[in-house]
Amino acid sequence: MVEVLIGMGSNLGSRTLLVKKAISLVQRKLKVKRMSRFVVSAPSEGVTGGWFLNGVLLAETNLLPTELLCFLQKVEIKLGRPPDHLPGKARSIDLDILFYGDKVIRSKELTIPHIRVLERPFVLNPLLEIVPGWIHPLLKRRLIDIAKEKGLFLQRGNQ
Ligand code: ADP
Ligand code: MG
Repeated sequence: MVEVLIGMGSNLGSRTLLVKKAISLVQRKLKVKRMSRFVVSAPSEGVTGGWFLNGVLLAETNLLPTELLCFLQKVEIKLGRPPDHLPGKARSIDLDILFYGDKVIRSKELTIPHIRVLERPFVLNPLLEIVPGWIHPLLKRRLIDIAKEKGLFLQRGNQ
């Protein structure tokens, strides 16, 4: 079994319900061990649509990275995200592989660690909440130490 971190986001429709449904679908194949709080944030990076609900799951899986991506994409489609959804458009649900154990992957379909993990407060804060000691496989340092050094995004409770 490999420990993975999955980022979840929704900014279209009934966000709370969609996130709850996504978690229960994910639990059919993955053993969810920890779940962050889900926080509301404004859309950024030019994404259209309204407010976001974002959070992170820590789970265990036997799926290979590409199998996990395929499974998460099926869940996204089941929850109403069109398969030809364009980046930058509002999404009913977005499921991203943030980390896959200590693997570093740079392929056409997968970038792990997920790009901009450390720059997105709506990803980094939930990560610091549930896995502050997670070692970033490229920087070889704990997330909490990376965040402290940057002096960014630390909220009460994460220090
Ligand atoms: P974003 O998640 O940045 O808003 P999309 O979800 O629209 O953008 O991007 C989907 C594409 O991102 C997929 O086709 C997938 O191949 C690619 N991708 C690359 N790395 C990852 C990853 N770590 N997790 C999920 N999707 C990824
Ligand atoms: Mg995505």
